[in-house]
Amino acid sequence: MEARSLILSRLFSDQPAFRLRQVEAGFFRSDWYSWDQVSVLSKDWRVKLSSELPWMSLHQIALLESAKHDTFKAILETGDNKRIETVLMQNARGFWSICVSSQVGCAMACTFCATGKMGFTRNLTADEIIDQYRFWMYFLAGRHDLEQRISNVVYMGMGEPLANYEKVKASLRAFLTHTDMGPTRLTISTVGLIPMLRKLLTDESWPSVRLAVSLHSADAKTRTDIMPSSYPRFLDDLAEWTGEYFQKFESRRRHLTFEYVMLAGVNDTSAHAEKLIAFARKVGKVKINLIPYNDTKSKYSTSESSALITFEKKLLDARVDVTRRRTMGADIAAACGQLIVEKKAA
Ligand code: SF4
Repeated sequence: MEARSLILSRLFSDQPAFRLRQVEAGFFRSDWYSWDQVSVLSKDWRVKLSSELPWMSLHQIALLESAKHDTFKAILETGDNKRIETVLMQNARGFWSICVSSQVGCAMACTFCATGKMGFTRNLTADEIIDQYRFWMYFLAGRHDLEQRISNVVYMGMGEPLANYEKVKASLRAFLTHTDMGPTRLTISTVGLIPMLRKLLTDESWPSVRLAVSLHSADAKTRTDIMPSSYPRFLDDLAEWTGEYFQKFESRRRHLTFEYVMLAGVNDTSAHAEKLIAFARKVGKVKINLIPYNDTKSKYSTSESSALITFEKKLLDARVDVTRRRTMGADIAAACGQLIVEKKAA
């Protein structure tokens, strides 16, 4: 699939440079929703572009709205009939956060995650990642009853973003260029692919976005049991990488979070809290985000609220910086870990 920017560069090769910039910026205007609205181009150009380049790389298959009207989930289809999901959630500031997918399915097979059961089909293109944002931009423009501002994008949908490094990077750069979101409004969630985490330490063109590393256990065996992509030395490698990250990016200390999904009897005991405290002390001052598990029809259940409170208190008493994530959209299977698209019959 040729990238939209390459097709446009080819088509506009004999046009003034500003024309291409106008069109690229226009993809992020909510009042331009097809080539027909691109008023800076002549009618002939609009007709030509309509036949050569789809305005959107994705189209809507289904749209679900939570009972509280604060979470929406869309199933979207790519040009080659692959289905992905994306979620729009109202954040604590009253604006919108978008959760985007970076792959069709996922190869990481985390045992608590619905997407992990799908297997991996293919990476999304940068356009397909960007168009999840554009889909919600147009959606909000048609819903005057809702707040209009999209303030954050989190790469926590289907897929492992760092396994699609270059396309994810291109999409981040597009958001930074064409929207009012700064790097701290963009978050990449990763299982912790160490080679790619190392790569971004020296990649000058990797933007200073937030990183949320899925830790889920500070015990090597437990982590490997629930995350098959893990390995015995992972926690040592992650601690070493974290040290390098803080050394290189002292000012980005608050940009790094470790995520911890609470699974009853699996990683929420007092012994697990002790191991997590020891890990947090080893890597320095980091933020741990506790996530209540959302049902994905797996063998797990969410920790009892008493277990969660005890676990959290133990961390707080040990002066570990800990927060707890709100659960949203569970009634439309849009909460963390619940994204799955059933394979279509052939
Ligand atoms: S949690 Fe993320 S990395 Fe793990 S299987 Fe699900 S989508 Fe993939």
